Amino acid sequence: LESPEHRMIQAHELLRKFYHHLLVNTKEGQEALEYLLERGFTRQTIDEFQIGYSLPSWDFTVKFLEKRGFSLKEMESSGLIIKKEDSNSYFDRFRNRIMFPLEDEKGRTVAFSGRAIQPDEQPKYLNSPETPIFHKSTVLYHFHKARTFIRQKDEVVLFEGFADVISATTADVKNSVGTMGTSLTPQHIQSLKRITDKVVICFDSDKAGMEAANRASVALIQSGFQVKIALMPDRMDPDDYIKKYGGEKFRVEVIQSSLTRMSFLSYFYRQGKNLQEEGDRLTYIEKMIGEISHIESPVEQELYVKSLSDEFNIQMDTLIGQVEKVRKSNP
Ligand code: ATP
Ligand code: MN
Ligand code: MN
Ligand code: MN
Repeated sequence: LESPEHRMIQAHELLRKFYHHLLVNTKEGQEALEYLLERGFTRQTIDEFQIGYSLPSWDFTVKFLEKRGFSLKEMESSGLIIKKEDSNSYFDRFRNRIMFPLEDEKGRTVAFSGRAIQPDEQPKYLNSPETPIFHKSTVLYHFHKARTFIRQKDEVVLFEGFADVISATTADVKNSVGTMGTSLTPQHIQSLKRITDKVVICFDSDKAGMEAANRASVALIQSGFQVKIALMPDRMDPDDYIKKYGGEKFRVEVIQSSLTRMSFLSYFYRQGKNLQEEGDRLTYIEKMIGEISHIESPVEQELYVKSLSDEFNIQMDTLIGQVEKVRKSNP
């Protein structure tokens, strides 16, 4: 006897294969395929990640699964189709999108994310909803395949986006997983902690990405990870960077050159500031003192106080006094 969950997975597996077939073998999928090739995806990565294409039809999925013995109720609870309000008819959730299959930790397809092809189409990425087989807060993109490489290197590289993970693997950074734009959850951290305690965070180098990287680093450090944060110039994301500069430069100048959290913060708080100006300089020093006040280790604290003292020519005692004051005011 098959459980409802097992049948939901079957439906996803069947669709994954068919969406992939549509993308690579049919005239209907040609525009989507050209878009991907234009972006620099290769046929090999398209196969490896089983990327597909959903037709611009309101009922393709409904009919495809109906023919294979699935009921409308089953399809609806799988998140693949949506019931129209005040009526008994259903329509496909994913229409005219590039389909990224999402796998659980056993490698079974349990959900999809569909990327719009037209630049003005909203949302850019459309995900399956929460279902009995898909819990967004527990899934990391590419985790199933990356696991062996994470163990081998005893390190994981964490990305925000699908394209970033895929490009990273082509740049031979195969210990890569993606948070799919959401913040890193306790469940994500738990599944990573079972296989490594070293993380390189490689989020987009725009303001939102850097803020998210900082939040993720706090959570990871609290869970006992050794954390590095990678940066790219000009607000690029890892996929942009790899496509522009290639895999070798990405590995050496981004991943291997990733920064400790404090060096990252020092870079981050300088953004958009002119430290030749007194106001900006004071704001920067205040921000760094705030961060230093959270550090537990006295050795580490002294290290950062020393570097502030050297850079801005302020007495160590003055800085330490300020750190203590901040610490007392928000314990
Ligand atoms: P692309 O390179 O295809 O334009 P991206 O990965 O660079 O996409 P970002 O805007 O940087 O896109 O978002 C990072 C990730 O966040 C995406 O890969 C996706 O997983 C998720 N995401 C982005 N927009 C949405 C959205 N509207 N709904 C759900 N998830 C989203
Ligand atoms: Mn972004
Ligand atoms: Mn991005
Ligand atoms: Mn991108």
